[in-house]
Amino acid sequence: MLQSEIDILRTATISPQHHFIAGAVTEGASGARLDVLSPIDGRTLTTIADGGAEDIDRAVQAARHVYENGAWSRTTPTERKKTLLRFADLVERHALELAVLGVRDNGTEIGMAYKAEPLSAVTTIRYYAEAIDKIYGEIAPTGREVLGLVHREALGVVGVIVPWNFPLMIGAWKIAPALAAGNSVVVKPPENASLTLLRLAALASDAGLPAGVLNVVTGRGATAGEALALHMDVDVLAFTGSGAVGRRLLECSARSNLKRVYLELGGKSPNIVFNDVPDIRQAAKVSANGIFRNSGQVCVAGSRLLIQSGIYDRFMDELLSVTAKLKIGDPLNLASDIGAVSSEAQLRKNLAAVARAEQEGAKRLSGGERLHETTGGYYMAPTIFANVDPRMSLWNEEVFGPVLAVARFDDEAEAVRLANAGTYGLAAAVWTGSLSTAHRMVRAIDAGVVHVNTYGGTDVTVPLGGFKQSGFGRDKSLHALDEYTDRKTAWIAL
Ligand code: NAD
Repeated sequence: MLQSEIDILRTATISPQHHFIAGAVTEGASGARLDVLSPIDGRTLTTIADGGAEDIDRAVQAARHVYENGAWSRTTPTERKKTLLRFADLVERHALELAVLGVRDNGTEIGMAYKAEPLSAVTTIRYYAEAIDKIYGEIAPTGREVLGLVHREALGVVGVIVPWNFPLMIGAWKIAPALAAGNSVVVKPPENASLTLLRLAALASDAGLPAGVLNVVTGRGATAGEALALHMDVDVLAFTGSGAVGRRLLECSARSNLKRVYLELGGKSPNIVFNDVPDIRQAAKVSANGIFRNSGQVCVAGSRLLIQSGIYDRFMDELLSVTAKLKIGDPLNLASDIGAVSSEAQLRKNLAAVARAEQEGAKRLSGGERLHETTGGYYMAPTIFANVDPRMSLWNEEVFGPVLAVARFDDEAEAVRLANAGTYGLAAAVWTGSLSTAHRMVRAIDAGVVHVNTYGGTDVTVPLGGFKQSGFGRDKSLHALDEYTDRKTAWIAL
């Protein structure tokens, strides 16, 4: 990836965008439009359709129609694999274009965006394409007078709603297994990061996915999103986003057709460093990255740092020193470490969280302010608060910004108590030289993933999802296929 290639793509004109329904670019029923602002400079990039119930209904009907006629759902797994592999190849060929488009839309630094968005989507699509013709049904261990078979079947129409931080990566975690299993999909992208998912659907069509199998309807959550959640002909709703919206979607399911809802929600993940951490400098560097990458807009961000007393001062010195060196700026400049906050509203939310933490008595050690305001973009300094305790909002509430809460602990029992305080349970990390401590902590911490001597960096082969109020869906790995298939029993008298 060369800076010159990025610079050519960054100025490309983006025409007004429309929905992608039944294999075609489709104008919204109401004609209403939403401006798309770039967090890089606050300027208008383009517009998207402000979709509503009528558009969602058209997309769901298209999805249902093709599901029923079998053009995708009744093909063999091997045929679906071939199409999905072609799809993955096309996404890979367009990876830089997709990455730059996404960065202009949501402000993620290009190095991270390139890997975490198109390239991750390629890996995910290939993974489920390759998996689908290797999964067998079951023969039950019955008596000899019967045959009990368990078939795995697709479910029908899958609704997908994703957030703006990594729309392609998270979208692919749901779209790829749903398609591989033979379902049809309707995606409602985040209103402030819709462009790459629209492009993805067009590439799927170019790869030979039949019309109506993958549809994208843009618009706001409360209108287009809710119409999808309430639709009587959607069988599954796969969601990643905030807890408040997750609760709303469960209500929508109850009020409509009892569609299955899978929720991947927020986190306030503890990153725990013991006195016997093998390499303090490395741990501090990875921990800074674990909270500050993508301006803290990562669901598994290590936003609570717990340091054991014996190394507290040394660790904090290292952490402050690596944080001070981070370059925050234009996300399309390869020299930047961290790009822009995704929107002005998110930046305001971050600054409000800083003000509240100060009022509640936490001690600000670095950052806390907006940066580069003259560019018109939304940049924020990495922010570290010490002396944070479980009674403070910064300990409990997800900021989804570059704001780190630090506390110290004396022993393992206190670390577990602090780590598990709160309602979230998405991710955690433990830094220690002791294998026994590591294993005990993995068992003791309430989280969907516990990293040991690292932070982040898992791949498609392992599940991701929350404990407690971080949700109950599981993206990635073969387990995700369970969310998009059902088991049907055949009981045959012999
Ligand atoms: P959000 O919940 O506000 O929005 C997520 C999506 O839901 C968007 O597409 C939005 O348009 C849609 N939406 C909003 N209101 C809706 C409604 N009433 N009905 C239907 N759809 C609606 O979240 P966000 O601000 O976009 O993203 C940040 C949140 O996502 C954070 O809490 C973060 O932790 C979480 N997140 C979780 C994971 C994970 O894997 N667990 C990954 C990334 C982000």
